Amino acid sequence: MDSLRNRQWLLANRPVGSPRATDFVSAETSFELPALLPGQVVLKNSIFLLAPTIRNWLDAPGNNFYPSIALGDPVLSPSGGTVIASADPRFPVGARVSAISTWQDYEVVDTRERNVRPMPPGVTDVEAMGPLGMNALTAYFGLLRIGRPRVGETVVVSAAAGSAGSTAAQIAKIMGARSVGIAGGPAKCAWLVSECGLDAAIDYKTGNLRDQLEKACPAGIDVFFDNVGGDTLQAAVDTMARFGRIVLCGQISGYTDSVPIPGPENMMRLIYGGITMQGFLLEHFEDDLAEGWHHLQSWLRNGSIVHREDVRAGFAAIPESFPALFDGTNAGTLMVTAD
Ligand code: NAP
Repeated sequence: MDSLRNRQWLLANRPVGSPRATDFVSAETSFELPALLPGQVVLKNSIFLLAPTIRNWLDAPGNNFYPSIALGDPVLSPSGGTVIASADPRFPVGARVSAISTWQDYEVVDTRERNVRPMPPGVTDVEAMGPLGMNALTAYFGLLRIGRPRVGETVVVSAAAGSAGSTAAQIAKIMGARSVGIAGGPAKCAWLVSECGLDAAIDYKTGNLRDQLEKACPAGIDVFFDNVGGDTLQAAVDTMARFGRIVLCGQISGYTDSVPIPGPENMMRLIYGGITMQGFLLEHFEDDLAEGWHHLQSWLRNGSIVHREDVRAGFAAIPESFPALFDGTNAGTLMVTAD
């Protein structure tokens, strides 16, 4: 095979605070298919999922829990694409997969080291990365396996108008719970109530969040699905009902800080209330993905879940799109197509 034109976005400098497009620099190389070691596959990326946690990976080495992208390297990112060479029989040539790849056209992925998942059959790239993608599955397993909402309970979700949040908040409704979302601004709050069918939505940018939570959840919060951390988590801890469950999905309010944000105060409240707080990663439920896809697909088909995607076109748009996750201007699952 001739060598292939390979566009790349490289990490130019480590962002301070929110990421900016200028933190990345474009490059172009020629890609030639290498001899593969067992377990390796070559991906042709066709779509990139812009995930908030990429911001954590842009920091200097130091946090043992996640990778640090080296300056000058292509940016590590969830992507969707097609296998064009394979030394892993689970992912033959032609298989469509989602994977932890990089911001470039072609990537050699070692499936023993990086997460690679088949795309559900018969769906588009956007469906595979959006309503059936990583964030939707995260919402499914985090809410149902850890939050375990019961009929009549009150579930609160932060970053509720986003990709993971909007799915979690709607699954709470499907389970017969009262569902309350926290989001930034009146447009997102209106969408949550009118389109997603939530019982209430709180605009955290106006007024005191704890007061608003107490008003919206007079009997307290039974399940808090948290994507934000920091002051948002604190306000929810202060409002939890007895035997409530706090699901730690993400801490986006701290991803732009140079040091980890502090945990909540007043842990005696958890002791006296019999409240649990548990973190998780989607990877912890890797063996059960088929169950998640099955339910998400049937809820999407019967209209119990609405999902919105913010799809931007063209490889060049990646760096200018990424900051939207941190200023809240993404309208749903943020993705960029390669072409
Ligand atoms: P998203 O919710 O679609 O987009 C991010 C949203 O976060 C923004 O639109 C913004 O919404 C909100 N936000 C940003 N900065 C904020 C701040 N300082 N305070 C409050 N809200 C802020 O993104 P997503 O991809 O679905 O990710 C949501 C969370 O899930 C992230 O924390 C991510 O790390 C986590 N996650 C975890 C796993 C896992 O395995 N545990 C997997 C996937 C994602 P507003 O306009 O409403 O502020």
